[in-house]
Amino acid sequence: MTTPEARPRLLRSKPQPSDRVRRALIVLNRDLRDCRTCHMAGLLDEVESIPIALDPEPDAPLPRIVLVGQAPGLRATILDRPFAGAAGEKLRDWFEQAGIPRGDFYRAIHFAAVTRCYPGRLPGAKGDRAPSPREQALCRPWLDELLAIVRPRIVLLVGLLAVRTFLGPVKSLTSVVGTAVDRDGVVYIPLPHPSGVSRWLNDPANVAAVSLAMRILRHRLADPD
Ligand code: SF4
Repeated sequence: MTTPEARPRLLRSKPQPSDRVRRALIVLNRDLRDCRTCHMAGLLDEVESIPIALDPEPDAPLPRIVLVGQAPGLRATILDRPFAGAAGEKLRDWFEQAGIPRGDFYRAIHFAAVTRCYPGRLPGAKGDRAPSPREQALCRPWLDELLAIVRPRIVLLVGLLAVRTFLGPVKSLTSVVGTAVDRDGVVYIPLPHPSGVSRWLNDPANVAAVSLAMRILRHRLADPD
């Protein structure tokens, strides 16, 4: 078991000053779970797509790390928990390299996404459909409000859609994984999606880039200033 002293500094740092932040997150998540904006616009099917939002654990320090993914998968939707399946296991493996214990996965990181509802399968393909620009625009206020409440020090961008949402029209994952962007006191760290469907991770050079990204994360966690 990892002792508190063995954890990176940012994970040991005192919780943000107030219960106000925790309460604001819980209220935001409650409102988010009620959101049916895309369903009412005819963009999503309520039978399989409902918003996924995880409240901070009552005894955990408030996360100063936000992970922004593309959108929840089907398993996350069924289990009502982001990254509940194999992709989450892969993320835990990566974050362990950065010093985040597996047991702190949901305690140390606040999980968000470009859109918060499962978009459904891509017709004729193995993977899920990417949220449309309209869905992204409709969901953006939820993301902005979350970031305004949490005021993260580190934002992990998982997948090209999340990367482009924050860093603009980057050419490819290969051009950004293993780098970090400092902006207005926040460090943005691009990562690939950990899904087994992605072939990007088959290339050893890309696996090495993820390890470099984890070294960057470890360094930022140890010395957040
Ligand atoms: S994707 Fe976002 S905006 Fe659309 S219904 Fe879900 S929570 Fe609401």
